[in-house]
Amino acid sequence: MKDQLSKEEELAAVLVAAAAFKTEDMWMVKFRCVCGKRIVEPFRYIGQKGYCRKCRRGVVVPEVEDESVLGLRCECGYDLPIELVRHGLEACVKCGRGVAIPKKKRHGFLNRLLALSKR
Ligand SMILES: [Zn+2]
Ligand SMILES: [Zn+2]
Repeated sequence: MKDQLSKEEELAAVLVAAAAFKTEDMWMVKFRCVCGKRIVEPFRYIGQKGYCRKCRRGVVVPEVEDESVLGLRCECGYDLPIELVRHGLEACVKCGRGVAIPKKKRHGFLNRLLALSKR
């Protein structure tokens, strides 16, 4: 009985986490390493460091607006060309799922605050 309760609590925690990350988890950003290798990472890793599996260089997963981004990959596997996103399309052409593009301004605002606090 006790085990069952803790499993339910665990499930509840997973559901809360899934709801919080839902929109970001559905989409991935596709970009190119300087070596030419295409890398696909979930939105939640944007701004974080990783490495290229081909050349082992360190890479930072770019913002959606970044020039190195080639496209956005939907959870259904469809690659949405970045040109279409830049022209305002914010949904998967294949399955219609909406894109929740992570807000760059928020990071910019945080960086500005950090810069100000260093003065
Ligand atoms: Zn590489
Ligand atoms: Zn889709």
